[in-house]
Amino acid sequence: MSGQIQAYNNVLELIGETPLIKLSQTVDGFPGDYYAKVESFNPGHSSKDRIALHIIEQAENKGLLKPGDTIIETTSGNTGFSIAMVSRIKGYDCILAVSSKSSADKIDMLKSMGAKVYVCPANVSADDPRSYYEVAKRLHEEIKNSIYINQYFNELNTEAHYMSTGPEIWKQTAGKITHLVACSGTGGTISGTAKYLKEQNPNVQILGVDAYGSVLKKFHETQEFDKNEIYPYRIEGLGKNLIPTATDFDVIDSFTKVKDEDAAHMARKISQTEGLFVGYTSGAAMQAVKQLVKENAFGEDAVVVVIFPDHGSRYMSKIYNDKWMQDQGFFDSVSTAAEQHIEY
Ligand code: PMP
Repeated sequence: MSGQIQAYNNVLELIGETPLIKLSQTVDGFPGDYYAKVESFNPGHSSKDRIALHIIEQAENKGLLKPGDTIIETTSGNTGFSIAMVSRIKGYDCILAVSSKSSADKIDMLKSMGAKVYVCPANVSADDPRSYYEVAKRLHEEIKNSIYINQYFNELNTEAHYMSTGPEIWKQTAGKITHLVACSGTGGTISGTAKYLKEQNPNVQILGVDAYGSVLKKFHETQEFDKNEIYPYRIEGLGKNLIPTATDFDVIDSFTKVKDEDAAHMARKISQTEGLFVGYTSGAAMQAVKQLVKENAFGEDAVVVVIFPDHGSRYMSKIYNDKWMQDQGFFDSVSTAAEQHIEY
């Protein structure tokens, strides 16, 4: 054989250009066409690869990072995994402060990528010294030659999606997109993507997804931070107990709230019907679509793009674990689990 070896130099070259996949059975009977932007095709299996690479390369360009320096972040898991991955290739130490709500799988995955992990209590306020924000800030002050990614308050998070996710969706839909449905956590994905899409066509509707227990929807509607909106919920990575500056509320047209239980069942349904093994928030995004269809949000001509942020393998001890589902009270009288698991 002759010719060139066809290989990538490292995994970072595979970040972005994720596929758009047409949905079928999950959207049966819905008006319009529905496509998933499947971010688990990134090498770190989530949309967060995009922001990790962009923010770290911008810091390098500004001379803020040199090999051996430390990168610190607060994360529900995905951003941490992506930062740890980029750090391995580029030769940085990686310290992550995570919420105790993160699944055990996610925490173990961060360690497998060489990160040092601080697990901080989930149900304390953001300004509590034990919160993962405060722990990360303190570590950044204490460790010389460190940078703090601070994704909730870093405009480069939003810029990463403005520069990649937005243009990709515009190109992949040949400019035909009418609606974007995306979860909001830091708000980077929805705001950056929306800004690009609205610049191309201001009529594209941007539909955010929020969790019950989060302040985002109420803040969008009233400009008021309502503490009464905050209570514990189970979906990881979606919604917030503070207002992130990475979110541009002006480019979002509306928010839909979804319940933990509905989102979990929807994620399982996507896996079983579309053959796409998706994470909890992908279920949340599709659940929002289902609710929006009931509100007649989409016409027959709608071209709807739904962002599926990460991969189902991160939730094996949660939504894909029948015992966990049962413990949450998410299986009612008839359990699909019993029908599928046959001891022989
Ligand atoms: N889904 C998952 C699984 C996430 O980890 C995140 C990030 N927190 C999101 C959705 C929301 O993305 P963004 O932070 O860009 O709003």
